[in-house]
Amino acid sequence: GGTVRFEDVRFSYDPEREILKGVSFEVPAGRTVAIVGPSGAGKSTISRLLYRFYDISGGRILVDGQDVRDVSQASLRAAIGMVPQDTVLFNDTLGYNIRYGRAGASDEEVARAAELAQIDGFVRRTAKGYATEVGERGLKLSGGEKQRVAIARTILKDPPILILDEATSALDSHTEREIQDALERVSRGRTTLVIAHRLSTVVGADEIIVLQHGRIAERGTHGELMERG
Ligand code: ADP
Ligand code: ADP
Repeated sequence: GGTVRFEDVRFSYDPEREILKGVSFEVPAGRTVAIVGPSGAGKSTISRLLYRFYDISGGRILVDGQDVRDVSQASLRAAIGMVPQDTVLFNDTLGYNIRYGRAGASDEEVARAAELAQIDGFVRRTAKGYATEVGERGLKLSGGEKQRVAIARTILKDPPILILDEATSALDSHTEREIQDALERVSRGRTTLVIAHRLSTVVGADEIIVLQHGRIAERGTHGELMERG
């Protein structure tokens, strides 16, 4: 499961200015669709609407054929994972931070998620185990390390749907490549909506949608978009 469908979605934060002006697309279960476009185009708004943070003024948003208005907030939160641009850590242990989203996970599950996200390296460097206090040090983790915590959270939560909202935009190019590799691994088999600034970072997406001023200006595979210039 996990098919996401936007049908002619319209949305405004305030009535004077429409942000999405009839946006339609589908992310088939297990596939990856990327939304690219200039800042202010409405890309992040799309991810907030999928979570139903706001109600739309027209059209429909469906998850597995069900209107998100008919789905409880709790089931939506459980079905959708999100890796944002800057992961915010709680002033608590690393284990607590990884468990965010699935509080009942066992220590073994946390350890395995941390391993898959390749968190081990920086944990050993800073302390002894996953119970270690992140605390103020959490603020000193590098951007890449914080994204690895977000990836471990996703592995643990195991949602069918994943939103990557500029997940690598704040990183230097070397770290960006590492985190992108990890994100590709974690997105495999999940319905993935990638929000990105640049076309070059979403080469492998099944479809790329170019959003401009709240409308879809172009769509196609990376190859198709390059061909059209
Ligand atoms: P993008 O992700 O493409 O940069 P956003 O979806 O974040 O664009 O924003 C689209 C437009 O909506 C922008 O003009 C932005 O200023 C506006 N906007 C975003 N969030 C809010 C909000 N909470 N209230 C009012 N306007 C907002
Ligand atoms: P598939 O949909 O073929 O199973 P993946 O889900 O692993 O493949 O990823 C599809 C493509 O989406 C990747 O090849 C990559 O180009 C792009 N992608 C995945 N994660 C990101 C990301 N965080 N930033 C940019 N692009 C990404």
